[in-house]
Amino acid sequence: MTERRTALVTGGGSGIGRAISRRLAADGFAVAVLDLDHDSAKRVTEEIAADGHEASAFGGVDVSDRAALSAAVDGVRERFGPILVLVNNAGLSGFRPFLKISEAAWDKIIAVNLSAPFYLTQAVLPDMIAAKWGRIVNISSSSAQGGQQYMTHYVSSKAGLIGMTKSLALEFGPDGITANTIPPGFIDTPMMRDSERRGLLGGSVEDNAQRIPVRRPGTPEDIAAATSFLCRDEAGYITGQIIGVNGGRVT
Ligand code: NAP
Repeated sequence: MTERRTALVTGGGSGIGRAISRRLAADGFAVAVLDLDHDSAKRVTEEIAADGHEASAFGGVDVSDRAALSAAVDGVRERFGPILVLVNNAGLSGFRPFLKISEAAWDKIIAVNLSAPFYLTQAVLPDMIAAKWGRIVNISSSSAQGGQQYMTHYVSSKAGLIGMTKSLALEFGPDGITANTIPPGFIDTPMMRDSERRGLLGGSVEDNAQRIPVRRPGTPEDIAAATSFLCRDEAGYITGQIIGVNGGRVT
């Protein structure tokens, strides 16, 4: 990379988003770490600074609040300039029999997992179009590739994100912008450990890992490595793709 570019990572304070933020900073991007939780966003920027790289925290921002997002995007531009990499990673999980999913639960999951990437992508695309270069990486879910019982609201939101990614790739390919989606499968994060604690995995994370072809849970760094590659100049011919990172669970 010849000049420093700015990357915005949502949900950057925890799990996969934290690893992506740290990796993109190590790659030379100035990273805006956006998260609902102020302290975790701050902590990640401190980790990045300790590694000798550049980041700024945008904590206390709910991605489903369009006005708050818009203010955060203005803040990132003020601090670092145009945003040329967007990683829509913040996500909310849900587990409920289909007939018991309330309208409020449906609306909340769609708002965070699908509407927020729509808001944010609309907000930052003008920067990418002006630069004739951009990278959008949407973190979807392997559950959207095969379906998942008791998670219809979550799976529907993530399937929508896959469709959004493909459509963006077609519309903005001529502008030098790529859009790809990584559907993680079974990554050891606080979200995964929370599911384990609530008995939703039918066993421990480690038990489940024995059914994965590579025989281990994924790490946040596995997702960060794929994201890093998609954000490079040399990945400019990869767009509209679903890049599964799942240890072979879904092929
Ligand atoms: P995580 O550790 O829970 O991290 C999610 C992050 O997103 C948290 O920092 C969370 O903040 C933030 N967030 C949630 N709602 C938000 C909102 N409304 N506004 C701003 N930030 C918000 O989960 P993860 O496992 O790393 O998940 C990251 C992404 O990967 C999610 O989109 C998830 O659906 C997807 N994914 C994960 C797996 C897996 O195996 N782990 C599999 C498939 C897909 P708080 O902590 O403050 O809530």
